[in-house]
Amino acid sequence: ANINSQEIIEKTEKYGAHNYHPLPIVIHKAEGVWVEDPEGNKYMDMLSAYSAVNQGHRHPKIIQALKEQADRVTLTSRAFHNDQLGPWYEKICKMTNKEMALPMNTGAEAVETAVKAARRWGYDVKKIPDNQAEIIGCVGNFHGRTLLAVSLSSDDEYKRGFGPMLPGIKLVPYGDIEALKSAITPNTAAFLIEPIQGEAGIIIPPEGYIKAAYDLCKENNVLFIADEIQAGLARTGKMFACEWEGIEPDMYILGKALGGGVFPISCVVANNDILGVFNPGSHGSTFGGNPMACAVSIAALDVLQEEKLAERSLELGKYFVKKLREIQNPKIKEIRGRGLFIGMELSEPARKYCEQLKDEGLLCKETHDNVIRYAPPLVITKEELDWAIERIQKILG
Ligand code: PLP
Repeated sequence: ANINSQEIIEKTEKYGAHNYHPLPIVIHKAEGVWVEDPEGNKYMDMLSAYSAVNQGHRHPKIIQALKEQADRVTLTSRAFHNDQLGPWYEKICKMTNKEMALPMNTGAEAVETAVKAARRWGYDVKKIPDNQAEIIGCVGNFHGRTLLAVSLSSDDEYKRGFGPMLPGIKLVPYGDIEALKSAITPNTAAFLIEPIQGEAGIIIPPEGYIKAAYDLCKENNVLFIADEIQAGLARTGKMFACEWEGIEPDMYILGKALGGGVFPISCVVANNDILGVFNPGSHGSTFGGNPMACAVSIAALDVLQEEKLAERSLELGKYFVKKLREIQNPKIKEIRGRGLFIGMELSEPARKYCEQLKDEGLLCKETHDNVIRYAPPLVITKEELDWAIERIQKILG
C-alpha cells in the first residue's frame, strides 16, 4: 500500500478529537528499540509508549503468546472461566508477594479499582462512618484521565470544564512527611502515591520519604497504595519502584508494561483482607481478565524476569546518566533518574528540542514543559545509548 505520512497526519487531525499534540511522525513498523515511518526513515524510541514497551517493541515471545492465544479463544467475559486467568493470577501474585489480584484493562481503571477497594475496606474493615472515607493523594500526581483520576489531580488543565469533581480527596505536597501526618484523620482510608512521579517530570522524592510515609500509614491503619503503572515492572532498575526504599505497599496498581506493549491489561494486587472486600456484582469489566490479555501478560512478565530487565535498566541507567552529565551545556538544569527512567530538566521549554531530536532520529517527548524524558525500551544496548548521546549533545548545541 502506498501510504504517506503527511496524508495520514492530515486525516488524523481532521477526524480525531484534539486531545493530544503528537510530534509529526507516523510510526508504521517497529522492532525492539527502533521504529520506522512509511517512507522508511528509522528512529530510536526513547519513550517506550510511556513505559508500556519496557520489553521492546513486538518482543517475539510476547507476539508468539498473542498469536497462539488468538488461534484458540480471545474473549469469554467473566461470566465463564478461561484457562489463562488462573495462571496469570498465580504469576502476578508470586511476583508481588500478594495473595490476590484483580485485572482491568487500562491504568486509570486500575486506579478506580484501587480507590473503590480502599473505600470499601475503609467502611467494612476500618469502620469509617458511611460516605466519610478520605483518600490522600500527592500534588503533581498523574493517575489517568477518568473523573476519579482528574479529581485526584492538582493540575487545573486536567480538570477545567469537567466538574463537579469527586469528593473525599485531599492532596499533600509530594515528599513532605509532615504534611501527610497532618492530613491523616480517623476517616483516612488510603494514601495513594507514585513512588516516582512520571508525568510530573520524573520527580524522585527525598530519600526515606516513601518508607516514612509507609510507616505513618501503618501507625494510623491507612492503606499505602503504590501507583506503579509507569515506574513499576523493571523501569527504575528494580521490579517495583517501592523496592528502592525496601517497602511492600498494601496495594500495587500496575498497567502499561504488564501487557508488554502488545495488549492492554492493568491490575490491582493486594492481600485477601483488602481485595476480599469485593463480592460478585461489586466490580467488573467485560474485557478485564480476558484470555488474550492474560496470555500476553504472562509472557510479558516472563520476559522481564528471564531477560533480567530490572538489572539491565539499573546498569544501563547509571551509564546513561553518567554520559548525560558529561554533556556540558548551560541549558541543562538537572539530570535525575533511577534506572532507565530519566528526566533532563532544561532552563527552557523542551518541545523544540524534542522536535530537533526527532529530526536526528531520536523520539523523545517533553513532559511538564521543561523536562525531556529518556525512557527507552529496557532491551536497549550500550552502543545504542551512545548513539543517542551523540544526538542529544548535538541538538543542545
Ligand atoms: N498512573 C500513572 C502513574 C501513569 O503514568 C498513567 C499513564 O500515564 C496512568 C496511571 C494512567 O494509565 P492509562 O493511560 O493506561 O489509563
